[in-house]
Amino acid sequence: MPTYILTQADLVKTAARRWKEMNFYLEGPERKKIHQQLLKAKTAEEVDSIIGNKEWTTFYCHNCNAQHLKVVAQVGQEWDYETRTCNLCLDCVRSIHATLLAASAGQEEATEDINRGHGPDEVQKPALSETNPQDSP
Ligand SMILES: [Zn+2]
Repeated sequence: MPTYILTQADLVKTAARRWKEMNFYLEGPERKKIHQQLLKAKTAEEVDSIIGNKEWTTFYCHNCNAQHLKVVAQVGQEWDYETRTCNLCLDCVRSIHATLLAASAGQEEATEDINRGHGPDEVQKPALSETNPQDSP
């Protein structure tokens, strides 16, 4: 799946639908009233005020557990309730990027070493020129 950048605006836009899905078991006029209020809400503050917390308009990072984030990168399987999907904060993405770059550079050096060891350069080296005569028995 492509990486999705999810923002607080996405959460505000989908709050009414998500709230209705999550609270399907509630009965009565209160459920309908809250849903109607959420449909009219245009800002995160309005949604937070209706629901009573910031959990519906912010993300948390699945890697470092940073809370109340306004933007994340979503990687893995396309999200559903039982998928392997991960939301990452900017700091974690930066850290992963730096680590991946370093590992990739190390991998290229390791690959070059392997190629040097088994490639034509190694075969063509004159063996005696690199041997210290004092090391010989
Ligand atoms: Zn993080």
